[in-house]
Amino acid sequence: MRKETLALHAGYEKDCQNSMAVPIYMTTAYAFDSAEHAADLFALKELGNIYTRIGNPTTDFLEKRYAALEGGEAALATASGMSAITYAILNLCEAGDNVVASKQLYGGTITLLTHTLKRYGIEVRMFDVHSPNEAERLVDERTKLLFFETISNPSIDVPNFGTLVDIANEKGVITVVDNTVASPILCNPIELGVDVVVHSTSKYTTGQGLALGGIIVEGGSAKEKLKDKKRYPQFNEPDASYHGLVYNETPFPPFVLRARLSLLRDMGAAPSPFNSWLFIQGLEHLSLRMRQHSSSALEIAKWLSSHPKVKKVNYPLLKGDKSFENASKYLKGGASGLLSFEVESFDEAKKIANSVELFSRVVNIGDSKSIITHPASTTHQQLTHEELEAAGVTPGLIRLSIGLEAVEDLIEDLERALG
Ligand SMILES: *Cc1c(COP(=O)(O)O)cnc(C)c1O
Repeated sequence: MRKETLALHAGYEKDCQNSMAVPIYMTTAYAFDSAEHAADLFALKELGNIYTRIGNPTTDFLEKRYAALEGGEAALATASGMSAITYAILNLCEAGDNVVASKQLYGGTITLLTHTLKRYGIEVRMFDVHSPNEAERLVDERTKLLFFETISNPSIDVPNFGTLVDIANEKGVITVVDNTVASPILCNPIELGVDVVVHSTSKYTTGQGLALGGIIVEGGSAKEKLKDKKRYPQFNEPDASYHGLVYNETPFPPFVLRARLSLLRDMGAAPSPFNSWLFIQGLEHLSLRMRQHSSSALEIAKWLSSHPKVKKVNYPLLKGDKSFENASKYLKGGASGLLSFEVESFDEAKKIANSVELFSRVVNIGDSKSIITHPASTTHQQLTHEELEAAGVTPGLIRLSIGLEAVEDLIEDLERALG
């Protein structure tokens, strides 16, 4: 089935009340039929509900639907995008291991890798997404994953999936891709050979800035790459914390199984069933929204590039953009709603951010309402001149997240603000 259809139907068949809408199972725990039933559930002899930290029916519908949309085998929903990314990394790494990641990443992921995980002995090695071959020499026997974003936030770069997947496959290293900005509608990294996909569902999935959430999707190639490999003993040796279970010897997709039974069980960043339900509502019209976000963003990018006060526009599907070739190859049906542009100075950019009336000054993306950010005076204020340059943030850079308003109104607002 096609994605528009899966987004409405996958993972849910009417429940015992014939409820057409997916029900919200607001419950912490579940009653067992008998002591034997409980024992079988804990032993994975039978699948079923135990406790909402480990699984919940509403969340399960979301996980099945997301896995279907990404072309994956299984999914695990978490309380935020950052917890999904953290669990995906911790599922593979322990102290002494390293992550090879692109420099062009979400700010929270950069601080997770360069500061927080470093304190626990996990090292990060970074390459420039426009020189993918650099990744190859960074990989060694303690490298557990190669990490990058489909469309990076906020730098708006699209990587060369072909080169990066080839490097990872040749070395036998798991690839993890953050597909938040593209959403499962515009790109399916698993189809491009990626093993594991993560999302912040707080952005385009809800579409209305309603709730925080994240999800990990395991592709069919992960099991093979983990099986019997010296690099990944935790999937092939008995887990003493789960009565000797060997994740690769069960019939279930091992990456998501271990993340659930070990990490989610012990660390507990489980989503609220209510939030899972909100994401299910968002998925129903995600394909329509992504099409509109993408076409409005492209139109605005073109309009901005012919404006005399604009020095440069970054949008992957704009001809001449540094990511144009990769975007044309890997993004189907649009390049999403993020774009950025540069004006002459810090003051000029600040003035524009202050003068818009329709765009909101918010540090979020993927909302139905349009958003403007001036990174140099807000999100990146603490950085030195050199650090700003490394992050691709110039003093006159403005980032836009294009919403679903009439594109003519958005252009008129920008025209007024640019003056
Ligand atoms: C927002 C975002 C995250 C973090 O997600 P939260 O849900 O805010 O924790 C991770 N990656 C990207 C690309 C994002 O845009």
